[in-house]
Amino acid sequence: MKKMKNNLPENVLYIMKRLSQNGYESFVVGGSLRNLLLGEEPKDFDMTTNATPEEILRIFADCKTFDNGLKHGTVSIVFDGEVYEVTTYRIDGEYLDNRHPKEVRFTDNIKEDLSRRDFTVNAIAYNPKIGIVDYFNGEEDIKCRCIRCVGNADERMKEDALRVLRALRFASVYNFTIEPQTEQAIFNNMSLLKNISYERISTELKGILIGQNVGYVLKKFCDVFAVFIPELKPMFGFNQNNPHHDKNLWEHTVCAVQNVENKPLLRTVMLFHDICKPQAQTIDKNGVSHFHNHDKMGSETVKMILKRLKFSKKFTETASMLIYYHDTRISADKPSVKKLLNILNEENFRLLMKIQYADIMAQSQYKRTQKITVHSKVNSLFEEIIRNNECYTLKQLAVNGRDLFTIGIQKGDIIGKILNELLELVINGKLKNEKKELLAYIKKQAVSE
Ligand code: ATP
Ligand code: MG
Repeated sequence: MKKMKNNLPENVLYIMKRLSQNGYESFVVGGSLRNLLLGEEPKDFDMTTNATPEEILRIFADCKTFDNGLKHGTVSIVFDGEVYEVTTYRIDGEYLDNRHPKEVRFTDNIKEDLSRRDFTVNAIAYNPKIGIVDYFNGEEDIKCRCIRCVGNADERMKEDALRVLRALRFASVYNFTIEPQTEQAIFNNMSLLKNISYERISTELKGILIGQNVGYVLKKFCDVFAVFIPELKPMFGFNQNNPHHDKNLWEHTVCAVQNVENKPLLRTVMLFHDICKPQAQTIDKNGVSHFHNHDKMGSETVKMILKRLKFSKKFTETASMLIYYHDTRISADKPSVKKLLNILNEENFRLLMKIQYADIMAQSQYKRTQKITVHSKVNSLFEEIIRNNECYTLKQLAVNGRDLFTIGIQKGDIIGKILNELLELVINGKLKNEKKELLAYIKKQAVSE
């Protein structure tokens, strides 16, 4: 108990003390408490109290406060630049649209407030005087790493369908499993996700993807994802029928997602990288499947999906480009690396290396050693090119348009053409990237023409 108190920031203890001095009860609640009990760093500290929003504002009249969540009972108090949310105990009224309660009502009973919360692990409260308040055995569920709805799982999912994805996110992020009744409620109510905005869905999707247990969630709950991304469906159970693969397409995808670093962009690219394989399939005379053009097709499909899901334009374009190039065989020589680097840029090339590695490691053992050897050579060449600042773009070329202009080449489109030609010669190692040598080459060409 003492230990829990020691884990709470001074400001949180101070807010609770001040409420108590004014005759009100308050608790730390929700995600912060869950994370403390899990031994993880809390993101923020939410408090709940029987004081009404007006009373909270009055008690903290000398502090900077925001009351933009007032109709839901939330007052934000700012201490040392940190925001602490204090919310009045609340009961949600009837839910009308599978997301929003018709009304919220304040209560002075902490149990009522805790019982409106989604999962037992999020419905624990603590204050230093009373200790832990845990009506729904949330602590036990934290110990056995289990996501369980508070009360009747089916009703809770129906009330607010976003909880379907919140359950998957918590399972993925904290490496929890979902208990059977909650799991059943997820499957029974997943179609209600159609009533949830794409912005909310994609925030949860990103959260799910970066979790450590994403493999379990994608595999077991693939049908949930297909509710808002029906384009995934043809991947489920699809037999790849090719020596490079020993898993079906969805299993390969899940493995590739799990293999790559847990950044939203990389995980999203792995999720969608092979999405068009089923449509691109051809079968040769030996009965082996091939998927010519699936990368280009996939890059278009993913653009459509991410746009629909309201991902940012930059995120969408980068993901789409990386999928376009994900299957490109890069030869282990500097000119090949530099040509692709010129198209992608340094940052995206580095991402492509991670993507290709995760992809290879999710394929069969067939030729894996060769693939990894080439990949690692390409990666070393890439790092060497960057380290030595070797030229792979027009920007790095030792001559520019003005230099050509001064030796008498005046037409804009010809200048562009010549510069690109020079860049290619430099990349191919035919010319050194030195001004004198490049200008001499152009003059020589001009004379011979
Ligand atoms: P994190 O902030 O790490 O995503 P969290 O549990 O703090 O996790 P928030 O969205 O910040 O999640 O919500 C704070 C608390 O409010 C939750 O712990 C839960 O008790 C309650 N809550 C949030 N969203 C819902 C919901 N859709 N249905 C029921 N209770 C919810
Ligand atoms: Mg939170």
